[in-house]
Amino acid sequence: MKYSRQRELILKTLQENRIHPTAEKVYDLIRQTLPNISLATVYRNLNRLSDAGIIRRIEGVDGIFRFDGEIHEHHHFICKKCGQIYDLSNEGCEDLKEKFAATSGFIIDDCDITLQGTCNKCITKN
Ligand SMILES: [Zn+2]
Ligand SMILES: [Zn+2]
Repeated sequence: MKYSRQRELILKTLQENRIHPTAEKVYDLIRQTLPNISLATVYRNLNRLSDAGIIRRIEGVDGIFRFDGEIHEHHHFICKKCGQIYDLSNEGCEDLKEKFAATSGFIIDDCDITLQGTCNKCITKN
């Protein structure tokens, strides 16, 4: 993939902000450096980067996509109350991949499990 300066900056922003931001949030962050960039350009670059496997796209409980600059295998936890997406370790990935590869005959490259529930910030709010 050819790298434009915009795309590089989008990637850097994602890697520095491990909050699984939405495209709008990425746009807000990028505008601090590139005030003239459009939301459409941010969307287009985010989609290109995720299609190429350079970043990951995760659908939140609200149906809105969020983006993740951490492409090393890891699981996610989505809080059903606040919608925040948290990173979890990649614990159990190797076992699961082996197990499912053996039962399905598929070649399994990545393991990305999304768990849902209530995060500790929302638990303490109650
Ligand atoms: Zn929460
Ligand atoms: Zn993540």
